[in-house]
Amino acid sequence: MIVFAVGDGHGKETPGKRTPDGYRENFFNNAAKIHTIREMKRHGVTMLDASPESDDTPLSTRVARVNAGIKGVKPKGYCSIHFNAYGDGEKYNEVEGIETHCHPQAPSNGCKLLAKYLQEALIKGTKQKNRGVKYSDFYVLRKTYCPAALVECGFMTNKRESELMQDAKFQLECGIEIAKGCLKYIGINWQPESQRKKYDEILKEVSKYYKVWLQHIKENPQVNLKGLIEELYYICGK
Ligand SMILES: [Zn+2]
Repeated sequence: MIVFAVGDGHGKETPGKRTPDGYRENFFNNAAKIHTIREMKRHGVTMLDASPESDDTPLSTRVARVNAGIKGVKPKGYCSIHFNAYGDGEKYNEVEGIETHCHPQAPSNGCKLLAKYLQEALIKGTKQKNRGVKYSDFYVLRKTYCPAALVECGFMTNKRESELMQDAKFQLECGIEIAKGCLKYIGINWQPESQRKKYDEILKEVSKYYKVWLQHIKENPQVNLKGLIEELYYICGK
């Protein structure tokens, strides 16, 4: 059994952590995490979700879960998913791009390679500025025993990237790219889905994980669920 850990930054109700227009960072983080989990599972990896609650999971709880592993099997790595902000968060600015963080003195050097693969995978899709790999003394990077990296998939204080952040296709793209980076790190070749799944199979599979996302749809009735699932179906089938 190969175990990999993933977590979505913050919680649905965490204060701050939203675009100047009020869209919550966790909606992006959670959606991307769900796609990452699905994509990794498709490649036979057992996934450990460090933050399955919609409330903000304490960092110490996340780290304890990652370090405990599943049935004694420790994860090969951990990826924490975020969206960045710059300035006071009240207004948009020009700072933009994708960056990945790893700890400068983490227990294993593997984290640098994991961060490198994640960054490489994330900059391949939608054109965004490559801000590179950074070394940061973040708690979740310092305290996890396995190699750990934290991805920032854009800036919610940049107007263009804040729109990307809310785009279901971009959330899916990031989820798949994060999975590609993690898979490369553990030596599994990423494979596109060979067969298009039936519409309701995809719907069932995706909606199973989509508690927070469905809540978002409930709160934003203008979201076209059928259109969204069709998009997912199309992209998953590629
Ligand atoms: Zn964050």
